[in-house]
Amino acid sequence: MKVAIIGGGACGLMLANILENHHISYELFEKSLVGRKILASGNGKANIGNILVKEEFYNHSFGYTLVKEYQSKLFSFWNDIGLHTKTDEEGRIYPYSESSLSVLECLMKRPLHIVENFPITSIHKLNNKYYLNEVRGPFDYIVIASGSIASFIPKKQQGFYDFLSSLEVKIKPTTPSLVGFKLDCNFKKLNGVRVKCKASLVKDHKVLYSEVGEAILKLDGISGICIMNLSSMYARLKDKSGCYISLDLLPDKEIKITSYEDLISLIPPKLVEDFKSHSLEEVNELLHRFSFPILGVYDYEFAQVVSGGISLEEITEQMHLKKDSHIYVGGELLDIDGICGGYNLMFAFCSALKIGEELCNIK
Ligand SMILES: Cc1cc2nc3c(=O)[nH]c(=O)nc-3n(C[C@H](O)[C@H](O)[C@H](O)COP(=O)(O)OP(=O)(O)OC[C@H]3O[C@@H](n4cnc5c(N)ncnc54)[C@H](O)[C@@H]3O)c2cc1C
Repeated sequence: MKVAIIGGGACGLMLANILENHHISYELFEKSLVGRKILASGNGKANIGNILVKEEFYNHSFGYTLVKEYQSKLFSFWNDIGLHTKTDEEGRIYPYSESSLSVLECLMKRPLHIVENFPITSIHKLNNKYYLNEVRGPFDYIVIASGSIASFIPKKQQGFYDFLSSLEVKIKPTTPSLVGFKLDCNFKKLNGVRVKCKASLVKDHKVLYSEVGEAILKLDGISGICIMNLSSMYARLKDKSGCYISLDLLPDKEIKITSYEDLISLIPPKLVEDFKSHSLEEVNELLHRFSFPILGVYDYEFAQVVSGGISLEEITEQMHLKKDSHIYVGGELLDIDGICGGYNLMFAFCSALKIGEELCNIK
C-alpha cells in the first residue's frame, strides 16, 4: 500500500509521522516549503490547541466532534514526538518553549519522505491507482491536506483549487476569516490607535457576538484579536446586511462625563481629541457605543483562515470522499474553521490522527 499526501502543513506533516510509525509507504508533496503556517502561527509562538473547546467555536459540529474525540490522543502524539507543551489559563496550548519552530522541528525530527517545491496540479485515476501530475505514482490512497489561501498574497491565491477539478467535488465558496473589518468610518487621525474594549458584532440592532480585548483602529477599519473572532461569526452569516461593529470603551465602568477633561485617563489621547468634536451628551453615548457599519472584511492576505472549502457533504465520517473511498481530505481545506485560540491547528492535527487511524486499519 502506498499513500500520497498533498500538502506539508500541520495535517500533512503529522500524518507523515503516523504513517512512518506504522511502516506505511508514502510520499508527501509540498508546493513550496513545509510548515510555513505552523511557523507563522500564534505570532511565532504557535497556539497548537485548546483544552476548553466548545461546539460554537467551530462553524460546524464536525470540527467539534472530531477534536473532542482525538484531543487526548493528540497529547499522546505530541509526547511521542518529544513536543513538551504548556496550557494557559484560557486553555490555550503552546509548545513549552513558546516557539513555533519547536513544533516544526519535532514534526521533522525523523527523516520523512517529503518532496518540496513540487506543486500538485492534477490527480488522475487509472486501473484503480492514482497518479499525481501524470508522472508521480502509482498510489493506492491520496490524502489531500493542502490548506487554504489565507495569508497568501493575491498572485498566489489564483488557481488554488484547480488541481481538484478531476474529483468533481463541491467547494463551498470561501471568504477570509480571523481578519479585520473594513468599516464605514473616518479614522484618518486615529490610525494605529489601540483601545481596550468590549467589541460586538451587531446585526439589525441585535448583538450576535461580543469579546473583550484590544482593538486596533486602521485608516479604513479595525483589527485586533478580539475583532478577529467577530469576523469568524460574520463569515457564518448568510445575510450580512445591517451589520456593524460596536465598541464599548468602558465595558466595566459606569461613569457620566461632565467635561472633556474627564476623558483623559479613560481613553487614548488621540480619541480624546476626536471626541472633542462631539457634544458631551454624544460622548457619553459614544463611550459605550462607538459604532460603525461594516463594509466587508480585509483580503485573504491578512486572514488567518478561510471560511469555506471542500463541502462536508462530500466526505464521510471516516474523512474520505463519499464518491471515492481512497481519497481522504483533512485540515483547513475542508469547510471547517474555528475562532482564535488554537482551534484551527487542533482541527488540522486531529484530522491527521483520524485519517492516520483509518489508513492503519486498512493496512
Ligand atoms: C498568520 C497566521 C497565524 C495563525 N495562528 C494560528 C494559531 O496560533 N493557532 C491556530 O490554531 N491556528 C492558527 N492559524 C491557522 C492555522 O495555521 C491553519 O488553520 C493550519 O495551519 C491549517 O493546517 P493544514 O495542514 O490544513 O494547512 P496548511 O498548514 O496551510 O498546510 C497546507 C500545505 O499544503 C501546501 N499546498 C497547497 N496546495 C498545494 C498543492 N497543489 N500541491 C502541493 N502542496 C500544496 C501549502 O503550501 C501548505 O504548506 C494561523 C494562520 C496564519 C496564517
